[in-house]
Amino acid sequence: MVRYLVVVCASCGGYRVVSGVQKTFRCFSCGNVSSLKQELIVAYANSAEEARQRIAYLKISKAAKREASKP
Ligand SMILES: [Zn+2]
Repeated sequence: MVRYLVVVCASCGGYRVVSGVQKTFRCFSCGNVSSLKQELIVAYANSAEEARQRIAYLKISKAAKREASKP
């Protein structure tokens, strides 16, 4: 079973899906190459579809937090 990881770019904070066997990943947004460190992994998934759903959820909760912090 291939494991998918949702990682966050250390440079721009963008989300990416990588397979568990990768040692590094490149960000699509800024081109930054990061090593697959534990602190950059924000979610695990068993399929690419599940990983996409996790990213969608992370984006929503991020936006909700921004909304909540408005005066
Ligand atoms: Zn980036």
